[in-house]
Amino acid sequence: MKRYVIAMDQGTTSSRAILFDRQGRVVSMVQREFKQIFPKPGWVEHDPMEIWSTQMGVTMEAMQKVDARADEIAAIGITNQRETTVVWDADTGRPVYNAIVWQCRRTADAIEELKSRGYSETIRKITGLVPDAYFSASKIAWILDHVPGAREKALQGRLRFGTVDAWLIWNLTDGRVHATDFTNASRTMLFDIHNLRWDEKLLDLFGVPASMLPQVKPSGGLFGTTDKFGGDIPVTGVAGDQQAALFGQCGFEAGDVKSTYGTGGFLLMNTGERAVCSQQGLLTTIAATDGSRVQYALEGSVFVAGAAIQWLRDEMRMLRSTPQSEEYCTAVPDTNGVYVVPAFSGLGAPYWNQYARGTIVGLTRGVSKEHFVRATVESLAYQTNDLIAAMQQEAGLHIQTLKVDGGASANNFLMQFQADIAGLTIERPRCVETTALGAAYLAGLAVGYWKDQNEIRANWQRDRIFTPGLPAEQRSRLLAGWRRAVRCATAWASEEE
Ligand code: ADP
Repeated sequence: MKRYVIAMDQGTTSSRAILFDRQGRVVSMVQREFKQIFPKPGWVEHDPMEIWSTQMGVTMEAMQKVDARADEIAAIGITNQRETTVVWDADTGRPVYNAIVWQCRRTADAIEELKSRGYSETIRKITGLVPDAYFSASKIAWILDHVPGAREKALQGRLRFGTVDAWLIWNLTDGRVHATDFTNASRTMLFDIHNLRWDEKLLDLFGVPASMLPQVKPSGGLFGTTDKFGGDIPVTGVAGDQQAALFGQCGFEAGDVKSTYGTGGFLLMNTGERAVCSQQGLLTTIAATDGSRVQYALEGSVFVAGAAIQWLRDEMRMLRSTPQSEEYCTAVPDTNGVYVVPAFSGLGAPYWNQYARGTIVGLTRGVSKEHFVRATVESLAYQTNDLIAAMQQEAGLHIQTLKVDGGASANNFLMQFQADIAGLTIERPRCVETTALGAAYLAGLAVGYWKDQNEIRANWQRDRIFTPGLPAEQRSRLLAGWRRAVRCATAWASEEE
C-alpha cells in the first residue's frame, strides 16, 4: 500500500525532506542546515558530499518519524537550488571541487568579457537567459580551468557535470543514472530551450565537453530507482525550486502566476507552449510539466524582498521580529509620503541597473518609525508589481489571480497592499510548502499516486483571499511616486563624480 510521496527539497542553506499524503498534507518533515563556504569576498561554495549526506540523513529521519517503510513510498521527487554546479569523477564519484553556488560571483569578469565580445544576443536567443555568472556555464569552465588536471580528464570523458538534482540522482542510483530535467537544464546557459538539447556552439564557447553532460528529461517520469532507503523507490519527479513552486501552486495553464516572497522575490508566469522573448530583461525558462508537453515560463526576480525586513530588524533595529512589521504597518494610514527603494545591490528587471543603491525619499518632520517600516514593507509590493506589469505586457496575457508563498506572504498587510497596488486578486494557500509539494506532485503523478491534475487542484486549499480595493486615482498617484523614487535611486549612482 503506497501511502506517501517523498519530496527532497535541497535548498541553498538547508536540505529538507517532506513526506506528503494523498491530500497533499505534510505528514513528516526534517530539515538540516549545512555549511556555507566563503573562500573569498563574493565567492560561495558548498561541499557536495555534505549536500548528499544531509539530504540522505533528513530523508531517513523523515521516514523514521512516521515509521514509513520503503514499500509505503510511492515515489521520490527532487527539487533543488538552481544553477549550483558540481563536477565529479565518473569512476570514483568524488567531486573534483566544491559545488560553486549560484550566488558566487567569481566568473563575473569572464561573463563581462563574453558580453563585450558581443555574445549576449546569441546566448539570449538560445537559452532565454541574460548572460550572468549565476548560471552554470561559466562555473563549469572555471572548474576545468582551475582544478589541476581537470580539463584533461574532462577531454578523456572521465568527468561529469550536474546541477544539484543530477548530483543527487547519481548518488541515489550509485552512478547508474546521469540525468537532469528540462527546468534545471534551462538554467545552465548551455541548453537550447527551443530545440530541447545541449547547444554545441555554447559548449564550444565555454569549453565544456559534451561527455560531461547529463541526459535531459521531462520533469515528470522515471529518472531511476534508488535502494538507499531499505527497498526500491522510483525517482519520478525533478524540478528546480522556482518551477517546482509554480507547479505546487497548480500553475498548469498559460497565464497562471505565482509570486514568492522569501529573502528575495520570484515571480513566475506560465506562458504555455510559447517561449516569450522579453525586451525588459525577464528570463525565459522551461516550466515543470507532467507528461511530455513542454511549457515555458517568464521569470523575474526581486533581489531584496524579505531581506529588507531583516534589515529593519538587524541593522536598523526597528523591529524585534519580522512578523512585527505588520503591527507597525497597520498603526498608520499611509507612509506619510515616504518611499524606500531597497536597491542594496542594484535593481533587477525591468530596470537592470547594477549601480542603483538603496534610497529613502519624502522625509518630513512628521515621519515616524511606523511610516518608515510601512514604506519598506510596501517596497516588496511595488517591486513585485513592476514585474507583474512587465510580464502582462510581454506575454500579452492578463493575470487573473496571483498565488503567493514564501515567508513574507504571511504578512496580511503586505498581501492586501499588493492586491491594491497591482489591482489583482491574491490567493494564499494553506500549504505554503509549495516548492516541495511541486516536486512531490510531479513524482506522484508519474506513478499514478495522483490520477491527474484535477485531483491535485482539488488539494489546493485557500488560506485567505485578498481583493483589490484602492480607488484608481489613489493607485496611480502611489505608483507615480514609486517611479520617481526609483529614478532617484538610479540618479544617485549615475551622478557619481
Ligand atoms: P528563504 O526561503 O528565501 O530563506 P523564506 O520563504 O523562509 O525565505 O522567508 C523568509 C523571509 O521572509 C525573511 O527575509 C523575513 O524577513 C521575511 N518574513 C518572514 N515573516 C515575515 C512577516 N510576517 N512580514 C514580513 N516579512 C516576513
